[in-house]
Formats: sequence, structure tokens, C-alpha cells
Amino acid sequence: MKLTVLGSGSTGNAVLIVAGETRVLVDAGLSAKEISRRLALVGEDVRKLDAVLVTHEHGDHAGGLRVLLRTVDCPVYISAKTHDAYVGERLNVSNDEPRKRARALAGRVEQIESSRDFRIGEIDFHPFTIPHDAVDNFGFTATHQGVKIATLMDFGHITTLVSERLRGCAAVVIESNHSRDMLKACDSYPWELKQRILSRLGHLSNEDVADWIRDDFDGVARFLVLAHLSQRANNPYLAKISAEVALQERYPLFHGDTQVSLSFPEGTNSVDRGVNGKDEGGRMRDEGDSGFQKFNATLALALIVMVAVLSVACSSNRGSQSLPPEVESTIGTLSEEIAAGRYDKIYHEAAELFARTLPSSSPERTSGRCIPSSARSKAACCSLRLNNKIPAGR
Ligand SMILES: [Zn+2]
Ligand SMILES: [Zn+2]
Repeated sequence: MKLTVLGSGSTGNAVLIVAGETRVLVDAGLSAKEISRRLALVGEDVRKLDAVLVTHEHGDHAGGLRVLLRTVDCPVYISAKTHDAYVGERLNVSNDEPRKRARALAGRVEQIESSRDFRIGEIDFHPFTIPHDAVDNFGFTATHQGVKIATLMDFGHITTLVSERLRGCAAVVIESNHSRDMLKACDSYPWELKQRILSRLGHLSNEDVADWIRDDFDGVARFLVLAHLSQRANNPYLAKISAEVALQERYPLFHGDTQVSLSFPEGTNSVDRGVNGKDEGGRMRDEGDSGFQKFNATLALALIVMVAVLSVACSSNRGSQSLPPEVESTIGTLSEEIAAGRYDKIYHEAAELFARTLPSSSPERTSGRCIPSSARSKAACCSLRLNNKIPAGR
């Protein structure tokens, strides 16, 4: 089973899941051209897709769908409510866009329900409702030959159902949209937008992800991919440090061989303010980021593909560790530094301190290689190859 995040964030989301001979594209939020191009970069042919699965109608998840349907001839798996919302969209699209969408989808739809299992080829999908301000958004786990993965984006808080469904996954792609402090301090967002993102139907914060890792994560997943990072209200360093610190706190309770990866558009924090990046297929209001300032999609390329082979069997059992006080105090002062806008400084300092002081047996951790050397570098695309079954009873 192979999971590739082709793109994530407000500039567009698309994830490819390949198992056996089955290829499913989850969401078509990038332009059709860009989806084809990124698929080609990971050795896949867009015309060989077996299905496009649409999680919800927001433009960063469905904005490229109509045009993509000209190229592919596979069915679209979509719920009735999401279909109606997508076809009925009138905000920020041309007048004839709803009619074009209805025509493009005619005869192509496999209707699904957001909380009923379904199967596409060799992959079993287990969707579940997640709290977001779309009509019928869902996250899901997908299984193939005993391997289970999860992807879930665009949701305001972790519910009991979400925690339950994430148990036993070999890899989890999860939204880590914003830092609450950075969002509050971000002066380019109107208050209403901040409220919307922070609400229980908005987007998941770094802090929410950290709480989930500390309190509910079962430690089975070898890979946590943090996705849908806001380009204004988050920073990859901070998202990653926050998750890594939470994992450290969790180590006394499980075998700690989980790796944190990031998927974010290149050019994070370098905003092209003048560009209105409306896609060919028309895009709705942006998601979890600015609704009025779009990024030039052509900047967000140059993909780095990280391929990792999953071996779920845990090989090392680290002893009990607590967080060194220097790290705790550094993390504790992040809020103040962020409020003062000293982002780069604090991330570099925290990353260095983190790497220097943690007496972990992990070579990445002690050498600091787990921290990206530049906030602007890569990882728009993260690809994981999952070979091993989940050990029974975990
Ligand atoms: Zn959304
Ligand atoms: Zn989104």
C-alpha cells in the first residue's frame, strides 16, 4: 500500500492511495494540470486512476475536479450532500460554473455515505464524520491486506470517534493547520475568519494534534504526516516541534519509533499578495487560510519525495524519559516570542536546543536532522510505502 500526499493546504489538497492494482485519488483541490504533473513526478499516470474520492465541497479539495474529469474516465465517489453543495456552489465561481459541474459529473457519480463503509477495487474505505463547516465532510481509514492508514483534514477538534478510528493505523495523515498563537497574532486575517478557523467546526491546530498524540495516540503508526499547514498562521518548525515534543512525552508509554513528516507548499511564509489564484475549475473560498489572498500555484512546486519502508515491528524499546527542563521552558516561552513576531529566531533556537538536550537513543533526534534546515524547503509531497501488516492485538 502506498500513500502519497501530492499537495496539501489552502493551495489545494490531493492524496494518492495505491494498493495492488487500485489507484484512488482523494480530493482534487489542485488544478487538473497540477494533479497530472505531480502524479507523473511520482511515476503515476492520471489516466490510470480508478476513482476520485471527494471528502467535501470546499475549493481546496474539489476545485480541480470538473476539469480533471475531462482527462480521467473513472467514477467520482461523493456523498449526495457534498455533490449538491459542489454543483450548487455560486460563491467565487463564474455564473455558468454550477451548470458545467453538473454536466461534468452526470453519469460519473458513485454515491457514498460519509459514515458507511465502501470498497474501491482492492481497498476498503471506512469513512467517519468529522466536525467542519462543510455540508458532509469525512475522514477515513483505508485498509488493504491488513494494513490500515488514515487521512483526515479539515476538522475543528478531535472527537472520541476520531481517536478510536485512528487506533491501529500504520500511517496517519492529519491536519496541523495553525498555531493558535500565530493565528491570533496574524494581522492579515479579519477577526471573523480567525474565529471560524479556531472554532470546533474549523481547523485543527498544532496544539490539538499535540494533545491527541499525548493523550490518545496508540503509538502504532510509524508515520505521522502533518498536513494542511496554514501559510500565514503556522510554521513548519513549530508544527513539527510541537508534535515531536508530544511524542517525547508519550515515549514512556510505548515504543517510540514514530516519525513526523510534513506536507506543506514550498514558499511557506512568502506570500504573493497580488495573485488571485482562481483555478480553471473555479475555486470556492479558501480553506483554513486566507479567503481573499491566494498563492501563485506555480510557485508551489519542486517536490521532494520521501519514500520510507514501513516495518511495524518495533525494534527498540526506549526507557522512560521526561522532557528536559530547558526544552520545557523554551516551549513555554514560545507564545511570548510568537506574539513578538520573533518566529525565525525562536524556531531555530528551539530546534537546536531540542536536538542538543534530548538524551534520546534516536540518531535523528540527537543530531537534529529531524528539524528541517529551512522553513522554505520542500516537502510539498510526502510518499510512504507501507508493506507490513499491523501486528495482531495492537
Ligand atoms: Zn474545508
Ligand atoms: Zn481544506
